[in-house]
Amino acid sequence: MLVSSQYLTRVFILFEQDMGIKENLAEVQQAIPHGVKLVAVSKTKPVEAIAEAYAHGQRRFAENRPQELMQKQPLLPADIEWHFIGHLLTNKVKYIAPFVGLIHGVDSLKLLEAINKEAIKNNRVIRCLLQFHIATEDTKFGLSLDEAVDLLNSESFKLMHHVQLCGVMGMATYTSNHQQVKHEFGNLAAIFHQLKQRYFMNEPSFCEISMGMSGDYQLAIEQGSTMVRIGSAIFGNR
Ligand SMILES: *Cc1c(COP(=O)(O)O)cnc(C)c1O
Repeated sequence: MLVSSQYLTRVFILFEQDMGIKENLAEVQQAIPHGVKLVAVSKTKPVEAIAEAYAHGQRRFAENRPQELMQKQPLLPADIEWHFIGHLLTNKVKYIAPFVGLIHGVDSLKLLEAINKEAIKNNRVIRCLLQFHIATEDTKFGLSLDEAVDLLNSESFKLMHHVQLCGVMGMATYTSNHQQVKHEFGNLAAIFHQLKQRYFMNEPSFCEISMGMSGDYQLAIEQGSTMVRIGSAIFGNR
């Protein structure tokens, strides 16, 4: 019997979707060099899915809604390092401030002030990344280099002792044009190096370039990513 290649493609897609979290996770881990941190993006997924990835060794997870994160956190093991990757409103910082391990999306001085304030209340230092707008789409949030420089030079920033800036984060344009995506990731890496030189030379903790998602993490790694945020390639489509 002849089987059309279209049919085979379909079967293959179904098979891929049926693959378990364990297999997906192993495949992604294989594809990432040592030294690049894997953040498993579990937004919209049930705690059972997170527990399965945890059982197979994953410890870093990310969510993009404060309330969702706040609800999931107490149901899962305490040694999970929770990252926040969404757009964060100042009045929502309080939900995640007691436990969050890294906030990726800091895109204003006002937000950083709010994080510092909640960190003081919780008697801790909260690690953050500055988010940059590197895509051509205006739907994506983030600072320009000039805005970041203003933030870093501000008196307000100099007085903050409960936030620690650990690097930069960005999202590339959603496009099949690899050259463009590469260029945008390259820009983020260049921004990181400029800020490192100018403001963080003596701070080893300023070391992260968070870039790369399921569809573009290979390109991001080529451009110097230290931290990839991967959801659907591990947990399936949302
Ligand atoms: C959802 C999300 C991801 C993961 O996206 P996938 O394509 O599912 O890997 C990464 N980063 C951010 C900021 C996200 O919102």
